[in-house]
Amino acid sequence: MMKYIKNRGGYKMCFRFVLALLAGIGLMATPVAAAARPLKIVTSFYPMRIMALNVTRAVPDVVLGSLASSGAGCLHDYALTSGDMKQLADADVFIANGAGMEPFLERVAARYPGLKIITLAEGLPLVDGNPHVWVSVDGAIAEVGKLAAELAKVDPPHAALYRQNASAYTGKLEVLRDGMKAALAPYRGKGIITFHEAFVYFAREFGLNIVAVVEREPGSEPGAKELAATIETVKASGIKALFSEPQYPDAAARTIARETGAEVYLLDPAVTGPDDPGAYLAIMTKNSEVLAHALSK
Ligand SMILES: [Zn+2]
Repeated sequence: MMKYIKNRGGYKMCFRFVLALLAGIGLMATPVAAAARPLKIVTSFYPMRIMALNVTRAVPDVVLGSLASSGAGCLHDYALTSGDMKQLADADVFIANGAGMEPFLERVAARYPGLKIITLAEGLPLVDGNPHVWVSVDGAIAEVGKLAAELAKVDPPHAALYRQNASAYTGKLEVLRDGMKAALAPYRGKGIITFHEAFVYFAREFGLNIVAVVEREPGSEPGAKELAATIETVKASGIKALFSEPQYPDAAARTIARETGAEVYLLDPAVTGPDDPGAYLAIMTKNSEVLAHALSK
């Protein structure tokens, strides 16, 4: 019965209507609200979870789960576990970034045709197909807006609440973005070197210039030749600040720093952190402080 309801999107509303009818004519003792099962939402990874925590705040009958743990980082190489499959089999909605972040997305869609999959980055203008949209605040705002609009469609009785939550969170994100733009304005056009292709949208938003990316994606350590070329780039650019990430080993960063005299700082793409609705705001505020400190030298 549950499976049938899940596979036929429109049937669920119909089912609720029948329950209401039965309750209305006194055949059922329990009230309708208690009979309706909660909306089960699963997020793919950390930044999606933080957005969902904000957009579903205080919405009744929503259960929020997540596949990857809050410490997993980007999902570029993620393999689904049997526990993940179980969670997805039982879910109504799956919230993913899309744009290639979740390599398993097509398989999930094929396996669970009744699962509503919301991909927040798809439809947004991408730079070279780069999926790290949320790392710019405007990108996060666009994803939050899409999330609220899609959840409102899936769960119409709570549409106003999703939109209200998204609007309140967007207000905070706009204050964050404007504060960061002001704090980083003196460093517009400055060159930075990062260790993962996560900061394309971030750099564009705050007028920074990514001179080199040392490790294109986590897990792909640069070879000796690539490392030597990067060391030459750093020397020639006169860049004194390298930006590694808390999620990844920074052996390459330390080698480059040693060879060039540049310093290593941590810039956080907000892919790990505490399970707190305010976590993204805190991480980005810290990024802004680190950048202003590093670039003022
Ligand atoms: Zn990534």
